[in-house]
Amino acid sequence: MRLTTVGTGTAAPSRGRVQSGHLVDVGDVHLLMDCGSGVATRLADLAIRWQDITHLAITHFHADHVVDIPTMLYAWRYGQLPPRSTRLDIIGPVGMLRLLSRFATVFGDGLLSLGFPISVRELAPGEAIALSDGVQLRCTKVPHTEESMAYSVEARGRRIVYTGDTAPDETLGQWAHGCDVLLTECSLPDAMAVPTHLTPSQCGALGAAARPGVLVLTHFYPPVEAVDIRGQVGERFDGAVTLATDGWSLDLEER
Ligand SMILES: [Zn+2]
Ligand SMILES: [Zn+2]
Repeated sequence: MRLTTVGTGTAAPSRGRVQSGHLVDVGDVHLLMDCGSGVATRLADLAIRWQDITHLAITHFHADHVVDIPTMLYAWRYGQLPPRSTRLDIIGPVGMLRLLSRFATVFGDGLLSLGFPISVRELAPGEAIALSDGVQLRCTKVPHTEESMAYSVEARGRRIVYTGDTAPDETLGQWAHGCDVLLTECSLPDAMAVPTHLTPSQCGALGAAARPGVLVLTHFYPPVEAVDIRGQVGERFDGAVTLATDGWSLDLEER
């Protein structure tokens, strides 16, 4: 199972970081989690076969996590020859269908009838679905927006958890406990803490609760990059920490 952090930025335009998007490849599953502005272009920058993405899973409906969904749909129809014919599975919180139909209101009904099948599955917190034989996706509610969810991808004895955007949450640490990779947002420095995002020290506390194999930080607003992120995380979490960049990736051997 391989994780690639395609986009590690936020709503703030940032040199070198596009908005949120993370790819998990395992067997015949190519799962893109979140799809903010710039993710489509970054996939191409990184020479990732965007044509082969099979699943799109959305954590919540903030623009920096969803606006490249229409870009990708058009890419699959008009950006490749022959156009895509294989099914695309879109997964998201309750409200995903409504968001897509609103995109179609803006871009035209054709947005959702591009010649390849699109299946949309809305998940309630706590639900699990099989993406393929032996590849499981689970979700849990996180405190950020009403619909916000974190995802867990499990396959071949390995587990990757992605928080999406979240505030501190004790149950999230328990839910993620013992995962191989905990990909967590790290939005703002302690001095600019808000009730809907995490600071480095809060990421450290999450790491201490979850005890992942590696804590991978993403979703950096520019001010947080001016502080000693690694040092502040390390005051609470003594495990491995990575500050993700666009294009960083990690291969997890089968267990
Ligand atoms: Zn965000
Ligand atoms: Zn958000």
